[in-house]
Amino acid sequence: MAAKLLESQGGSLSIRIDEYDLNYVNAIRRYIISEVPTLAIEDVVVIENSSLIYDEIIAHRLGLVPLKTPKKYLEQAGAQLMLVLDAKAEGGTRTVYSGELVSVEDKEVYPVSTEIPLLKLAKGQSIKIEAYARLGSGKKHSKFSPISKATVKPSPLVNVINDSTDKMKEIVDSCPRSVFYIKEGKLTVADEDACTFCMECVKVDAGSVEIKEKYNSYILSIESIGQHEARDALMMGINLIQRDLGKLAEKVMTL
Ligand code: SF4
Repeated sequence: MAAKLLESQGGSLSIRIDEYDLNYVNAIRRYIISEVPTLAIEDVVVIENSSLIYDEIIAHRLGLVPLKTPKKYLEQAGAQLMLVLDAKAEGGTRTVYSGELVSVEDKEVYPVSTEIPLLKLAKGQSIKIEAYARLGSGKKHSKFSPISKATVKPSPLVNVINDSTDKMKEIVDSCPRSVFYIKEGKLTVADEDACTFCMECVKVDAGSVEIKEKYNSYILSIESIGQHEARDALMMGINLIQRDLGKLAEKVMTL
């Protein structure tokens, strides 16, 4: 088996996994979506709310605010942290954003984005809330899921059959991912992994290029929401599979 990092920027990560069965790669994808724990608001105590928005709607919106989740909480299944939202509209109508939600117990826990609108306050209105964040996973509620995208696709195999085709410039220009270039007058593959199977190059000259899927080779791509770094979410997904398989092995041993 081999793994190659294809992309890692911002919250995105793509790796190519070779000589590995699709079912295993997909299991990693599903574990990242549904098993990797994060903190999210579960309970809300509304102390004051003179806005036009019902308490229940505000509580629901707070639950959907992604919270940075330090690794130290991952082994604390019962961890609970209080965050406070205390806002007033003194000058005129204003929007209350997620950035005003503050953790009083641990400054390492904070909203991933400070710009999620929560509610509006008219002049003189105010809101005061205690919100309790707990650890959970995506299988309980999607608000706990640490990623917005997780895909598995086959790795592309790009073959140049005729590297002297008189349509080589058209083939190079047709590719939206710059997979081809011309080197010393020959059509050459520059970056096979960038291919998206759009088949535009084949439409130009089907006799000169061939696009196939590599056997037992897959590209796993994930995009983090921000509670964890993408690489950490991937590692946690893999570690959780190992943990669960270990538990299963122990059970089977006792049969
Ligand atoms: S299938 Fe599309 S992305 Fe892939 S090499 Fe051809 S033109 Fe480029």
